[in-house]
Amino acid sequence: MTQDLVISRFAPSPTGRLHLGHAYSAILAHDLARASGGRFLLRIEDIDTGRCRAEFVEGIFEDLRWLGLDWDGEVLVQSQRMAQYAEGLARLDAMGALYRCWCTRAEIATASASAPQGDEGPAYPGTCRGRADPGDGRRFCWRLDRGGDDPVIARKDIPTSYHLSVVIDDAAQGVTDVVRGRDLESAVPIQTLLQRLLGLPTPRYHHHPLIGGIDGERLAKRRNSPSIASLRDSGSDPKQVVEGLRKGRFPVGFSLLQG
Ligand code: GLU
Repeated sequence: MTQDLVISRFAPSPTGRLHLGHAYSAILAHDLARASGGRFLLRIEDIDTGRCRAEFVEGIFEDLRWLGLDWDGEVLVQSQRMAQYAEGLARLDAMGALYRCWCTRAEIATASASAPQGDEGPAYPGTCRGRADPGDGRRFCWRLDRGGDDPVIARKDIPTSYHLSVVIDDAAQGVTDVVRGRDLESAVPIQTLLQRLLGLPTPRYHHHPLIGGIDGERLAKRRNSPSIASLRDSGSDPKQVVEGLRKGRFPVGFSLLQG
């Protein structure tokens, strides 16, 4: 039996230096591709130009090289692909899958005070579905009409969103397997719906447990998460760091979070 070649990707946002959780994700994605003789790709998710910085892009390259994780081909940079996202947005709009939303954060918080809170803030109760343009020049975002808790597909300040950019780019890069943290598992129904609407293939999804401290708090939310750069500066051996993460051996005080 021939095994399909895996094309995986590591898709960090350059909003800070990479930490152990990023390294863990990158190693799993890298190893899955290499084990099949496939390709491991790198994508810089920098649509949020206000929060992303060029020095952190350099940091990503530097940290991956130090860890010995070589990627294949050219790096895809999302901030250079706004035209592709605009085209996807226009197609979704033309099929009537979207509506404009003028709500402010405060209005959404008030309207959904009793609704369950997801990772991305309060669930959106659909206030603007079918609403006419208030005509006061207020900025709007585009939401995907799922009949409830409709996610933002293009933000007020950026003409795309995490979900839209990711599905367009996973397809453009021919990604067969998405490997990422469990915190993004809730994105799967939204992303598969977008893929169906846009006629794009759905990759296999693998969500790994997050790494946290002994207090159970995940790395992304901790102030003092050791960055890969700090491990390097303190003289750690990258082979040991990578082999440790592969075997589930984490530095003292860190472990995989359950749930
Ligand atoms: N850019 C996202 C992050 O850094 C990952 C996106 C994904 O893997 O789908 O959390």
